[in-house]
Amino acid sequence: MAKRILTIFAHPDDAETMAGGTLLKWARDGHQITLCLITDGDKGTADPTDTPEAVVARRRVEQAGAAARLGAAVVGLGYEDGLLQATLDLRRDLVRVMRRVRPQVVVAGDPTVWFRHGTYINHPDHRAAAQAAVEALYPAVKKHGIFPELLAEGLEPHVVEEVWLGPTDQPDTWIDISDVFEEKIALICEHASQFPPGPTRTAFTRMAREVGQERGLALAESFRTLRLSSSTVRSIAGDREPGR
Ligand SMILES: [Zn+2]
Repeated sequence: MAKRILTIFAHPDDAETMAGGTLLKWARDGHQITLCLITDGDKGTADPTDTPEAVVARRRVEQAGAAARLGAAVVGLGYEDGLLQATLDLRRDLVRVMRRVRPQVVVAGDPTVWFRHGTYINHPDHRAAAQAAVEALYPAVKKHGIFPELLAEGLEPHVVEEVWLGPTDQPDTWIDISDVFEEKIALICEHASQFPPGPTRTAFTRMAREVGQERGLALAESFRTLRLSSSTVRSIAGDREPGR
C-alpha cells in the first residue's frame, strides 16, 4: 500500500543529502513524499553582494527540480535561515503540516547529534528542526487538547506510525542505496548553488561507503527509527533486514 511520507528539515537540500537515496527508492515504490522546509535557506551564499531575496528565489528553483525527481510536494514555512529555534510556534506549525499531510512515516533529523565525524559541528538549525519535529510528534500531533486552534482549522489529531531520524550516531536501520546512488548525486546536484558535482560525488561516495561498511553494504544510508503506532501495519522497511 502506498504510504504518505513527510520529511521535516531546516533547509532546502537537507532531506536530499541525508536521505536522498532512501527517498528515491520510496518514490520508485510508489510512496507519496512531501518535503517540509522550515527555512528558505536564505543564508546559503558565500557572495556578500547576494540579497536574501535572490538567494531564496534561486533555491526555490533548485528545490523544485529536486522535488520533481522525487515526485514530491513541497511545503515551506518561511522561517529565517541560521537563527532557527525549537519554539512553540514552530511546534504548532509542524503539527499543522502533519495533520494536513497525515503521513504514516516522518523523516527528520536526530536532535541529539551535536558533532559529526570529529570534524563537524552540527548546524544549530538542524538540531532545532529535529527537536521541534520530535516534540510535534509526541504528543502534540495526536492530542485534541494541544493547539485547539488547529481543530478550529479543521485539523484533527493524527497518529504517525514510524519516525526515521538521521544523520545519527545510533543507527538501527540501514538502506542499501547502491542502485540509486547516481540518482542521489543528481538529486543533490539539483541544488547547484550549494553542491558542485565533482566534490559532491567524492564526499557522498565516501560517506555512503562508510555507512555501508557497518553492515557489509557497498553504499548505504542509516537511520535511527521509532515505531510510534501499536498497529500491525507492516513497516515500510519490511522486516528491516540490512539491505532492504
Ligand atoms: Zn542544512
